[in-house]
This record gives sequence, structure tokens and C-alpha cells, in this order.
Amino acid sequence: MRILLVGAGLSGAVIGRSLAEAGHACRIIDARDHIGGNCHTARDPETGVMLHVYGPHIFHTDDEPVWNYVNRFADFMPFRNRVKTTAQGRVYSLPINLLTINQFFGKTMRPDEARDFIATQADLSIKEPRNFEEQALRLVGRDLYEAFFKGYTQKQWGCSPTELPASILKRLPLRFNYDDNYFFHRFQGMPRDGYTPMIAAILDHPGITVDLDTAYHPGMVRDVDHVFWSGPLDGYFDHALGRLGYRTLDFERFTYGGDYQGCAVMNYGDRDVPWTRITEHKHFSPWESHEGSVCYREYSRAAQPGDVPCYPVRLVEEKALLETYIAAARATEAVTFVGRLGTYRYLDMDVTIREALDTARVFLDCLAARRAPPAFVSSPR
Ligand code: UDP
Repeated sequence: MRILLVGAGLSGAVIGRSLAEAGHACRIIDARDHIGGNCHTARDPETGVMLHVYGPHIFHTDDEPVWNYVNRFADFMPFRNRVKTTAQGRVYSLPINLLTINQFFGKTMRPDEARDFIATQADLSIKEPRNFEEQALRLVGRDLYEAFFKGYTQKQWGCSPTELPASILKRLPLRFNYDDNYFFHRFQGMPRDGYTPMIAAILDHPGITVDLDTAYHPGMVRDVDHVFWSGPLDGYFDHALGRLGYRTLDFERFTYGGDYQGCAVMNYGDRDVPWTRITEHKHFSPWESHEGSVCYREYSRAAQPGDVPCYPVRLVEEKALLETYIAAARATEAVTFVGRLGTYRYLDMDVTIREALDTARVFLDCLAARRAPPAFVSSPR
């Protein structure tokens, strides 16, 4: 079959690879001048530092087949994400752990004592948190919420935490020991040479051709049997029913002749500091050594037409509009919508790869059974 995959990020590359290995001819197009989507990495010509061009990407998963998959295409180096936050004039360890709690409250509690103490802070009258704020108040209480989550979340999402789903906070652990690893996952690491060479290796198959600087136009479907669309779901329909909301990020790059902040990610919890975090990219490759340093101050704002869409907003309004786009997608033949943008969800890289592998398998099963492939293998709801 002749397959067109729109977008040369993780979804397009992984699906393309699976289908090419099954003998199909895959053409992957991308409007940008590079592969890798928002995982794209590039070496900074001035300092030699490996840059995470669209913001930090740290690979972490519990999905062993996915871990084996990425290791097939890149050498992974050990990496632990240890995030700090500057809030109310001090630096603290994240995610909230025993060090954070002891420092914040000026105490020397042991794990059980801290657990009991946080239970006195937490608002346990909230039985079923309906939003981010309630989830945070129930988990850690008002003082920690206001120092670490309230201002940051307002800056990141551009709305009150009372309007956001509780699920966003569930991404973060709360620990009553000194483990400051940001993620719970068993497998964590960073590709030694960056994500772009890893994705180039996934794409390196005789059944795959890649055309960069190539925008999709509807006439392209005439030459193919099926399309996998990893662009924005509403973008496929030219935003005809309205625009789904996204947050985009602005990066203010600056260089420093040494070690600027001593860690890869420094969050800023205070509302009156306009950026959400500063990332210092050489610390994402701790096995390299560089004299100079490149940092990004990261600012979040509502995406406008032409901006890079980063985080799907998914508030009440978007959810209603999303339903209409889901219906439109289901009524479209021979197109499958995939990935973070195509299914309008906040996906980590490992989930994106898992879903891409599953999507390719379902597609091949449908072909074998002579059934029409579905518009969505992973539900956007
Ligand atoms: N968050 C926060 N303070 C922090 C870090 C995170 O309030 O210092 C909240 C914020 O709403 C964010 C969410 O927790 O969107 C998830 O954080 P994560 O670090 O997973 O965000 P990402 O790295 O994906 O932007």
C-alpha cells in the first residue's frame, strides 16, 4: 500500500517504520526543515551544547518493549531528572519530598512524622477533587500549594488552577523520603547524541522516504491509500469548526561562560516572575563537558495561528469543540489521527511510541481482515 504520514515526529516515524517493515511504501512529510517534531535536538554552533530546541525532553517509561524499542535506535545514557524550584526567595527540591517539606517548614521530621504533619496541612474535607487546586489542597495543603503550584500553574496554563483538571497534578509524585527523582519510572535515560539522530535511525529504512519543508495539501491523498495525520486535529479540517486551544512556549536564549544554575531545570514558583522555568541544556548531557552554557528562559502563552502548539488546553470549551472534530474525523475515510496533536492530548514520549506501535499493529490487522482502519486507535477523550 502507499501510505502518507503527515509529520516526521515520533508518531510518524514509529508508524512509518512498522509499516515499512511490513512491506508498505511510506512517504513522510513535514512542514518544518527538520525531523523529530518537538523532540528535535541540535548542537549549538557557538558552545557545542546539545540543545532541546523545543524545550526539555527526558525519556522515562515503565513500558519495557518501548524502552527496548528506543534502545534499538540510539545509545541511551543514564539520566535522572532532578528539578529545583525557586519560590518565595529560596531554592527547594522537587518533586515535593522530605527535604522540601523539612526546609519549607524549618523542621527535621522523619518520614512518618512528615506524613502525619502533611495530613494536618492537607484539606481532607475534599473527598473527590474536582480540579487542580482541590487536588493540591487535598494532597499538600495551602502553604505548599501556594509556594510551588499555584503561581507556576497560572503561568503555565494561563488560567486559574480551579479551571484545570486534577489529572495534571497527578503527574507529580509526593514523597516522604529524600528521593528527588522527578519520575517514578523504572527506565530513564537520554539518547547520547540527542533525539534527532534516534528518529533519523527509525526513519532509516528503504521503504520510507522523507520530504521536509513540505506542507500537506488535500490533493496529496489522491496518490495514496491511507493517511496518518499527526498534525493538529483541527488543522486537518482547516480549523473550519473553530480552533482548539493550545499553550505555546517562547524561549529566551542566553549564554553564560560557565555553569549558570548548577542543574538542568530550575522552576520558578512565584507568580510575579514571568517565566515558568530556566533550562540549562548542557546539564541534559552530563556525560559531555562544555565551557560555555546555553540557557532558555521559558514563557508560556496561548498559541496563536502560526505558533508551535505545545500543550493541549482541554478546558470545557475545548472539550465541546473536540467532540465535533472527533465526529468529523470519524466521518473521514482513510485517515487515522495520531499523536499528541492528532488526538489533542498531553502525551509523554513513551506513551506516544506505545500508541504509535499499537496504531501500526491495528492498521495491519485491519488490512489483513479487509476492514476499514479506524480514525482513532487511541481515543482523544
Ligand atoms: N507544576 C507546578 N509547579 C512546578 C512543576 C509543575 O505547579 O514546579 C504543575 C504545572 O501545572 C504543570 C504540571 O504540574 O503543568 C505538570 O508538571 P510537569 O513537570 O509534568 O510539566 P511538563 O514538564 O510536562 O511541562
